[in-house]
Amino acid sequence: MLKNKSIHKKNVDKSHRLELMLQAMADRIFLINEDMTIVEQYGSAAETLTDFDVLYPAHVSHELKSALSDVLRSQQPITIRYSVLLCEQLDLSISEIEAWNGIDERWFEVIIKPIDTCEETSYALLHEREITQTYMDEKELRRLADTDELTQVLNRRAFTRHLEHAFNDSTTTVVSCLMIDIDHFKEINDRVGHLSGDEVITQVARICKDNIRSNDYIGRLGGEEFGIMLNRTNAIQAYDVAERIREAVASSSCHIDGHIIVPTVSIGIAELTEHVTSVRELMVNADKAMYYSKQTGRNQVTVHHDNLPHLSTAPLNGANIRRAG
Ligand code: GH3
Ligand code: MG
Ligand code: MG
Repeated sequence: MLKNKSIHKKNVDKSHRLELMLQAMADRIFLINEDMTIVEQYGSAAETLTDFDVLYPAHVSHELKSALSDVLRSQQPITIRYSVLLCEQLDLSISEIEAWNGIDERWFEVIIKPIDTCEETSYALLHEREITQTYMDEKELRRLADTDELTQVLNRRAFTRHLEHAFNDSTTTVVSCLMIDIDHFKEINDRVGHLSGDEVITQVARICKDNIRSNDYIGRLGGEEFGIMLNRTNAIQAYDVAERIREAVASSSCHIDGHIIVPTVSIGIAELTEHVTSVRELMVNADKAMYYSKQTGRNQVTVHHDNLPHLSTAPLNGANIRRAG
């Protein structure tokens, strides 16, 4: 009898400790039944609410319920991420708003697993963890991986990926690709040095960026070559954008180490038509048009077409560099 009592006390202590441990967790754990009712909750869940619609903003509640039904039906776990905007939290107290620490979006990861309790009702365990910092770190890593360090525009890989995406997306209407190469850049490097040459590259990148829309993409494809992808823009419309860029570059000047450098660019344009079979072909077409601009005088824009003549030698026009003062 005494022995049974001590076993009982031990079990009570253990379940009490377990309860305390679960309540102290930074994560939240919910046990949900097949009616989508929260039957148990532990962790940082302060309130004892049983309804998703009260606990979450409508879009999150909808997503969680849909994932829960999938888990209960398939008996397979699912992981989802969702975010909550501060502006969606209309009933927060001032101290709760302060706890957001100046961020306006928080990210959460939810793992939903089926749980077999040997009862007639099906249950799922929902384990929720805040991942805002991890999410922001991942986003920053992705940004760094996609960005050209010198000019802060996209690097070649990221730019090509956007073109590939447009090429494979059935909803893409019309897209044009621009290839831009700074004229006589070797000469600029030779006259003012490689580091000052970098400043010219950066300035040209900035001018290009200032002359496209926020839903277009610009990437540095190599040394002093850039690609631009113009969404919803045919070759004729792209010509106007390219001319605007060409003129803006030619009317800018870089004052570097006692030199005034007036860079110019040669531009080629190719449109993604149904005859173009790959992103590579699109870029080759734009490149051919760009070389035609080079070979027929530089500081100009050419639109690719099937009968574009192939010229083999480029005329020798010098770069516009003079001593300042
Ligand atoms: P063209 O008018 O025919 O384009 O003549 P170009 O002298 O500009 O010829 P090209 O485009 O072939 O030359 C590119 C030069 O850019 C060669 C290389 O020394 C230089 N370059 C490549 N990468 C960088 C870079 O990151 N910084 C600097 N400053 N120069 C670079
Ligand atoms: Mg080049
Ligand atoms: Mg060049």
